[in-house]
Amino acid sequence: MAGRVWAEVGGVGSRVTVPRSKWETSQDTSARMRRQPSKGTQPELAIRRALYARGLRYRIHWPVPGRPRRTIDIALPKWKIAVFVDGCFWHGCPTHAVTPKRNSERWTAKISANVARDEETSKHLRGLQWSVIRLWEHEDAELAADRVERLVRDVEARTGRKRREDRPR
Ligand SMILES: [Zn+2]
Repeated sequence: MAGRVWAEVGGVGSRVTVPRSKWETSQDTSARMRRQPSKGTQPELAIRRALYARGLRYRIHWPVPGRPRRTIDIALPKWKIAVFVDGCFWHGCPTHAVTPKRNSERWTAKISANVARDEETSKHLRGLQWSVIRLWEHEDAELAADRVERLVRDVEARTGRKRREDRPR
């Protein structure tokens, strides 16, 4: 790819610009995504940093109980809080969803399957008394961390569980 190619997408009044890499239709894309080391995406890292700054400790890529091969992006197991940071393309963000022109049926099916699996995972976790927060990668990391922190307080208030004083000094 020569330089950065941008595409304008979105419906009337919601024109946004996304990097071409988001809607690349290369056959290799899925394989490449699967091979990516699971260090976390940039939006995930930003949210993790914001949580850490609030003194909240988390585990990454925590296995979903009873659902082999599925993981929670950011888990706070102590409070049974699961945070997912969904990529706009792969999880069908209503603001940034685009259908690639090439192989559009294939991509639509793939993304629909992801969305269905996301919903099933959330439902499954809630059935196990986990609280689930799903964030889009486009969301502001600080606001996202605020949501998580409020939920931690709610869970503490509900369960009487106390947060460990493990803030660095
Ligand atoms: Zn989005």
